[in-house]
Amino acid sequence: MTDGRREEIAAALGAVEERIVAACTAAGRARDEVRLIGVTKTFPAADAALLTDLGLTRLAENRDQEAGPKADEVARLRPDASPRWHMVGRLQRNKARSVVRWAAEVQSVDSARLADALGRAAGHAREAGERTAPLDVLVQVSLDGDPARGGTPLAELAALADHIARVGELRLRGVMAVAPLGEDPERAFERLARAAGRLREDHPDAGEMSAGMSHDLEPAITHGSTSVRVGTALLGGRGLASP
Ligand SMILES: *Cc1c(COP(=O)(O)O)cnc(C)c1O
Repeated sequence: MTDGRREEIAAALGAVEERIVAACTAAGRARDEVRLIGVTKTFPAADAALLTDLGLTRLAENRDQEAGPKADEVARLRPDASPRWHMVGRLQRNKARSVVRWAAEVQSVDSARLADALGRAAGHAREAGERTAPLDVLVQVSLDGDPARGGTPLAELAALADHIARVGELRLRGVMAVAPLGEDPERAFERLARAAGRLREDHPDAGEMSAGMSHDLEPAITHGSTSVRVGTALLGGRGLASP
């Protein structure tokens, strides 16, 4: 069973890798300009462990309750793998203390209050010996201005970035976005790329543009994505009830 699953995931990873290479080539970019992050939400720790066996050590989750125990389980299953975990889902401030225990990077920061809470939590975690490094953060941008799906409006990106840059224990790394439903992803990622470029002028260390998922990683890479977050194309469908 596990062997079958390993082969299945290996084949899927190979196919995703081919798509990334093709998109980079078409865009005149080098393959190493784009990182692949495996989104393991709703899938068991055993699948995440198999991904690390296959060399994919950047993993992402979107819910703290699921991610904390899963990260612990992967650490138990593969003590030598030490994957880098990314939080990509909406986050309430009261979860900050828990998230900083497992996440190396939070890509879904969309308010100054959340940034402050994460900074405080990362400081406490460091004092408690649970962390050694500051927390990397990306500002999640809303490309359609619909606050219900998370993200800060583009117009507020600069102010939030300036705020985050002043919070101790946080390192501002760039921006993240999900292409709005019903819009051509090319146009959405073009807007994000312009915003990412402006952010980089003020914050040279914030060069990350996390964009592109299973169905739209190609247009994201065309427009300069530095991290694609892929779940379904690696591990399969999550079913209708899944986020
Ligand atoms: C689930 C999720 C992904 C991965 O989506 P797929 O379509 O399964 O590749 C990427 N980013 C975020 C924020 C997600 O919640």
